[in-house]
Amino acid sequence: MEILKGIGVSPGIAICPAIILEAEDYRIPQRFVVRKQVRAEIQRLRQAFLDAIEEVSQMQGTQAEIWDSRIKDIFAVHLHFLRDRSLRKKIADLISENFYTAEYAVSHILRDIAKHFSQADDAYISERVHDIYDIEKRLLRHLIGKRQEEISNFSEPMVIISQDLTPTQTASFNQHYVKGLATDAGGRTSHTAIVARSLGIPAVVGLGKITQTVASGDRVIIDGTQGTIIINPDESTIDDYKAMAEEMVEHETALGELASLDAKTTDGTKIDLLGNIEFPHEADITLKKGGDGIGLYRTEFLYLDIDHEPTEEDHFQAYKATIENFGDHPITIRTLDLGADKFTHYGHNIRERNPFLGLRSIRYCLQHLHLFKTQIRAILRASVFGNIKIMFPLITNIMELRQAKWIVEDVKEDLEEEGIDFDHTMQIGVMIETPAAALIADHLANEVDFFSIGTNDLTQYTLAVDRVNERVASLYTPAHPAVLNLIRQTIQCAHRAKIDISLCGEMASDVEYAPLLIGLGLRTLSLSPPMIPEVKKVIRSISLDECNAIARRAMEFDTSKQTINYLREEIRKIQDAEA
Ligand code: PEP
Ligand code: MG
Repeated sequence: MEILKGIGVSPGIAICPAIILEAEDYRIPQRFVVRKQVRAEIQRLRQAFLDAIEEVSQMQGTQAEIWDSRIKDIFAVHLHFLRDRSLRKKIADLISENFYTAEYAVSHILRDIAKHFSQADDAYISERVHDIYDIEKRLLRHLIGKRQEEISNFSEPMVIISQDLTPTQTASFNQHYVKGLATDAGGRTSHTAIVARSLGIPAVVGLGKITQTVASGDRVIIDGTQGTIIINPDESTIDDYKAMAEEMVEHETALGELASLDAKTTDGTKIDLLGNIEFPHEADITLKKGGDGIGLYRTEFLYLDIDHEPTEEDHFQAYKATIENFGDHPITIRTLDLGADKFTHYGHNIRERNPFLGLRSIRYCLQHLHLFKTQIRAILRASVFGNIKIMFPLITNIMELRQAKWIVEDVKEDLEEEGIDFDHTMQIGVMIETPAAALIADHLANEVDFFSIGTNDLTQYTLAVDRVNERVASLYTPAHPAVLNLIRQTIQCAHRAKIDISLCGEMASDVEYAPLLIGLGLRTLSLSPPMIPEVKKVIRSISLDECNAIARRAMEFDTSKQTINYLREEIRKIQDAEA
């Protein structure tokens, strides 16, 4: 039994056999399967060779007329290698003798061959090194691709272990069988973590070396609440965790009774708790958990299918479907925040050195007006069906906001000319998620109807800490006095300008921060829907005066550690008093 500690990003417990999902972009490390999986691993290898042969043969068939003889030569060499039975046998032997994964065995043998070729005196042979790397990549692509397919068609419960996962991969997992996720990389507010939470899959990230410690087929406990992984647990540990999982279910059921009650402090101050949603189906979960509306409708899910650019109708139908369940409850649709760790735009494959500082989000939209206008048209068309607001992400200067608003005006004119109805009074707001926006909040407040503070990015940009990098995860905290000061200042600006303000970063999903945020003046929080009952429970157990006192005290500390310890202690007192 081995225990690893990481960052728990999606609560819950999973106890299942592990499957390792490699990533093509990484060098394949030495990894093992359990003895009883060796045959299946060799079968995977065989299939990858057959698929690669078929792929190259098909290319030869369809492209032969346009290829010159040099290209034909290259593909003939590839086929020669792929059909070489002794090569396949050598790799299979490595799997059966050492219990290596097929991916590692392929990579190991082909890199060995490449090394020998590169040392050859014969120029023809040494140039073949690139072909060997190409063949390695092709085989790995088939192995990894098949595994991904297998995972989506799997009919047994499992947990997925990977170096990293993209939000697209995470979103494609079948929740019935994928019971937990654990990755080497990642941070608390990485988009993959947010997707895992929204799917309700327990997840631990930032483990550093989980993929080197677990073998495919090992039994693993993922405790997403504590951020712990237990590899090959003994029976008594499994029993303990099963009991804990049952307790969690009971606790959730008890919290379910709060759904129909208001989130009011003990002196009657109403706090609106809204849901952050990633996918339309979460709108229902928000209502079931007792949410008062949607405070952040992330719309990047429309780009999950990278082979297809979403049309205006795709946008419109997705928004309309969500709105219809919500009556008069407010729904804030955030315009596309593509790029960095989120889904990238279809056809957009330019790698940037610093994607979080690059052409992402509103910047991307303002440079791709067709895409932006398509979404805005759909939002405006949907606005007649409910109480819709529009929100722009990653604003850093007033000109960006003005440009975005001009485009909304432009689209409104087009719709009017076409005789298409929309809500003429639809509110427009911005996310305050960069220090620049927080520092010019006074100016921004004059030109919008509301603010929503995005602490996930605000923390990353204020502290210069990448939100997805596990190596600096310990530095990433919204409890840093610099972040708290920017939050306080933004709230004060909104109050002075008499505009609405909410907070929709993951900080709002963390019960420990609820009294502080209310004490700082917030009356609307938008959070991960499964966390609504927990936060509601805290709010219903505390008075506004207590929140104000907690905020005053919390703002006095000069280290985030003191602040966190203090807030934790206060929550513990509230929970003890309730028990
Ligand atoms: C944020 O940055 O706090 C936020 C809510 O947006 P996202 O996590 O989607 O970047
Ligand atoms: Mg953000």
